[in-house]
Amino acid sequence: MNYQLRWLGNAGFEFQLGQTTLIVDPFLTRPHFIQTYFGHVAPDEAALHKHIPRCDAILVTHAHFDHCMDAPAIALRTGTRVHGSANTCRLMQAAGLPAAQTNEIAGGDRFSINDIRVSVLPAAHPWIPGYTFGKLRRELEFPLLLRDYRMDACFSYLLEFEGTRILVWSSTQPDGAPRADLLTCRAVSSQRWYDTLLRQTQSSLVLPQHWDDTYQPLSDEPQPFFSAPRLGMPPIGRIDLADFSARVREAAPDCAILVPDIFKAYSIHPPCRTA
Ligand SMILES: [Zn+2]
Repeated sequence: MNYQLRWLGNAGFEFQLGQTTLIVDPFLTRPHFIQTYFGHVAPDEAALHKHIPRCDAILVTHAHFDHCMDAPAIALRTGTRVHGSANTCRLMQAAGLPAAQTNEIAGGDRFSINDIRVSVLPAAHPWIPGYTFGKLRRELEFPLLLRDYRMDACFSYLLEFEGTRILVWSSTQPDGAPRADLLTCRAVSSQRWYDTLLRQTQSSLVLPQHWDDTYQPLSDEPQPFFSAPRLGMPPIGRIDLADFSARVREAAPDCAILVPDIFKAYSIHPPCRTA
């Protein structure tokens, strides 16, 4: 079964599976660095309207702002539901989304969205300065501060549709991944990490996620984000997609790699050739 996908920047993807448009982690607002760390951040409604005209469901991997802050605006406009953790659902409701348009999920859950089977898999999240964990504040008044977006749980998602398996792997750990034709995963891990992950997933197509600099406006060509700090040093280089591709090739020589242009629609023809 052919299907379409678009990369929406950051960890955001749109999958068009049959008649259903499913969005994962939409984040198009991209507030400036200073605004992100010290100001209140509100969704860029014009960008969301332009680039996400329709949507039948939104899956959120976790409650940090760069994964969930744009979801309520899209859900309110399109009338769709947002599926996510307890914190994600509460943040949606605090943004004005009716509770009926939220679905609280947990690791191990399975549910259907039209003809798509969704499996929720527990995922590990890295420590990043400013990106907090734990209980949400009792009072949440929009627009929020960065530190108000607190993560309780993080999920990967397996989507199954007419024999095709798509894995959105959000975890920093490579273990426990199911088999999947298409895999999207982080771009900054070791050779051993990709060896382990791809041995389990046996994927024929891999896409990097969460690699671009989200402090740049959407109007700029995406460029790689700073690499994670090592050993307490300040961040120096930027994420190297050539390294990512080399490691995936080494781990799975027959697997194709796609670094999509932002917002461009790609047709996927299983076993995962692109057109
Ligand atoms: Zn996060």
